[in-house]
Amino acid sequence: MIRVAVAGAAGRMGREVVRAITSQSDMRLAAAYDPSCVGQDAGEVAGIGTSGVVIANLSAETLRRDLADVLVDFTTAAGAISRLRTAVENGVRVVSGTTGLAPKELEELAAFAEERRVGLVYAPNFSIGAVLMMHFAAIAAQYLPHAEIIELHHDRKLDAPSGTAAMTAERIAASRSAKPDLASSEAPAARGDTARGVPIHSVRLPGLVAHQEVLFGGQGQLLTIRHDSYDRTSFMPGVLLATRRVIDLSSPVVGLDRLLGL
Ligand code: NAP
Repeated sequence: MIRVAVAGAAGRMGREVVRAITSQSDMRLAAAYDPSCVGQDAGEVAGIGTSGVVIANLSAETLRRDLADVLVDFTTAAGAISRLRTAVENGVRVVSGTTGLAPKELEELAAFAEERRVGLVYAPNFSIGAVLMMHFAAIAAQYLPHAEIIELHHDRKLDAPSGTAAMTAERIAASRSAKPDLASSEAPAARGDTARGVPIHSVRLPGLVAHQEVLFGGQGQLLTIRHDSYDRTSFMPGVLLATRRVIDLSSPVVGLDRLLGL
């Protein structure tokens, strides 16, 4: 039985994770952390009735008390690295999808987990379809180096561009053989932000969940690779896979693609 603690248990993703964990026969909800809803039952907050797990603040003391095997973290970037470091320090494996983390801090956290031989999986996108989209984009970039990304998310998303868009740009830049000249413009802001030479356009609107299009332009042709997450359950198969696999990892894994063998 894998004992799972959920950080951000009162948030939109955290509530979905609580629902997913409690419906698995090989997992048990061991703890729930969130500064919102402290003292309330995590199952009730997630809308599935009483779970017997009361939401607490995450600290070294609560981590030591709750004896979880894995901490699944969907919180906010501010302070996330230090929270995850505390988990690693206490021997609790980490599965995190919190976005907006500074790459250098993430690298340092991964090195710390490796040093301690505590499993860690970090993925800016736990949707298997989105991971395939990034994989296909990397293949397309080998042949069609002119690419732009349009990412669309709900209006409460704090970071822009999205972690997925930044990672897609990274993958495109790493696999394309030629770096195209970006078209000059008198209104550069209207051409989007640029990550690794790939323009990214971020849309934030109510009604959206998480969507991305990668456009590849070539002579007389356009290739569009698009992925849509219609609701947060789309992330759960990836989160559950990572939660099972992290148990046996002694080296950190960044990106769900590595767990999928892509
Ligand atoms: P959300 O609804 O704002 O939930 C975040 C929750 O984390 C809030 O309840 C927040 O409490 C809580 N939190 C803040 N500090 C905490 C701490 N110290 N300990 C425990 N909990 C803490 O946001 P969301 O939509 O669920 O998204 C959460 C994160 O996941 C974001 O970074 C988002 O970009 C990311 N995300 C990743 C994926 C992926 O596949 N990797 C998919 C979707 C979302 P307060 O409200 O009191 O601050």
